[in-house]
Amino acid sequence: MDHSRELSLLVNSTIGPVLTRGDAGYDEARTIWNGMFDRHPAVIVRCHTVNDVVASVNYARDNNLLLAVKGGGHHSAGTSVCDDGLMLDLSLMDDIHVDPATRSVTVQGGALLGAVDAACQVHGLAVPSGIISHTGAGGLTLGGGFGWISRKHGMTIDNLIAVEMVTADGQVVTADAKMNAELFWAVRGGGGNFGVVTQFTYKAVEIGTELYSGPIVKLVENFEEYARFHREYVRTLPDEMTVWMVVRHAPPLPFIPEQYHGKLVVLVPFAYLGDEESGKALIQPLREMTETIGDGSGMHPYIGWQSAFDGLVSHGARNYWKSHNLKGLPNDLLAVIADFSSRMPSSECEVFIPHFEGVAGRVAPDETAYPHRTVPFVMNIHTRWQNASDDDRCMTWAREFHEATKAHSQGVYVNFTSDQTEGQARNSYTPESWNKLVGVKNAWDPKNLFRMNMNIIPKSAG
Ligand code: FAD
Repeated sequence: MDHSRELSLLVNSTIGPVLTRGDAGYDEARTIWNGMFDRHPAVIVRCHTVNDVVASVNYARDNNLLLAVKGGGHHSAGTSVCDDGLMLDLSLMDDIHVDPATRSVTVQGGALLGAVDAACQVHGLAVPSGIISHTGAGGLTLGGGFGWISRKHGMTIDNLIAVEMVTADGQVVTADAKMNAELFWAVRGGGGNFGVVTQFTYKAVEIGTELYSGPIVKLVENFEEYARFHREYVRTLPDEMTVWMVVRHAPPLPFIPEQYHGKLVVLVPFAYLGDEESGKALIQPLREMTETIGDGSGMHPYIGWQSAFDGLVSHGARNYWKSHNLKGLPNDLLAVIADFSSRMPSSECEVFIPHFEGVAGRVAPDETAYPHRTVPFVMNIHTRWQNASDDDRCMTWAREFHEATKAHSQGVYVNFTSDQTEGQARNSYTPESWNKLVGVKNAWDPKNLFRMNMNIIPKSAG
């Protein structure tokens, strides 16, 4: 079908550039974090204003175009870019405003976490979010969002006060605890299913500008012995302390002896919201449990710590993520993790085991659409490599690893999985939260315009 008349109307009604194949900037705009996705949208709208978003949503809907919404472009499933449809790119809508008096922060839908942190830290504030600064606030928030300070201050969604969004029929609505309250419930974990969020309003927390943090490094040979202690000990720690565990090849960092660079090790990164002395005392038992071969701990600027791992997950590589929320870390699971880790298909892969709980874990499961509040641990299988010729080998490893550990699974976090099937979507929620989400989807997007995501299929879409 010839859409040229409609397209020129779209061009005339938007301020941001509208790009089609061959235009300068088209290839740059369609490139996302995961190098596996080389998709060619029919149209890319680089939105500048809320009105640009409205015009793009209306255009996609009225012309039956598949619609992909890009916040930071970071999701491993590649849902922010589509073939042939309309890519609604929010990355130029990245304004952030911090009001230190009310400790509220407004963030446009395309801002990245690093920019949010930078704006908040001018006032010693932070919005709890993720651990990589080039992640988008948009997708992270809509899926839930957690990182180094979530045990003390809750998930990103627990600090969300309101959203302004453009819905499938092109309306601009606000959702908060009072206005459109069911919609507000649904966007806190239900992903991009309900519309395009043009602005998030968060409450920020006061944390100062430094925190005691760092990874300590262990021999992989001692992984199971160390992890048996870690799994019990970290659950006794105060909410101020967060300790994760990562099995990966050691990066060439100055505090890791050269002989281990490029070798499989166990990184134990942590962050503590408190003074250095008490942080040290809390970490000491972990330092002593099996040999510590490297120690990068100290007082670090919060912004530095929030971007400390950026280099390990830079843009452009091929990535395939599988994940479980875990009921626990029993011995048989640790043995499987050790076995698959010893056979990592590339030196860039990692098994990432965050500890959850704390304030984030004490929110009632039905308070937000993100329901998995009681999980103690999460396991992320980050499979990462460079060449397409390795796709099968790397993805097979991830799938087999995921399958071998599924008995320990308690659902999955929508932001951590590349496979966005209906089964995975249901597994991301409890039956109660799923039914409620379908109800909200029926009300706000009955024709499933917003379907490039962990899709909640409305009943009316058949
Ligand atoms: P995009 O790919 O742009 O968006 C993903 C989907 O979200 C889109 O398809 C769309 O459906 C929706 N979307 C995005 N923005 C909007 C919007 N404004 N309005 C409506 N829909 C929107 N998660 C954590 O919780 N904690 C972490 O520490 C963490 N670390 C990560 C590290 C890396 C290297 C990566 C790749 C991911 C990490 N994540 C983490 C997962 C992250 O939360 C998701 O990948 C998230 O989707 C990224 O958001 P984005 O806006 O960059 O992604």
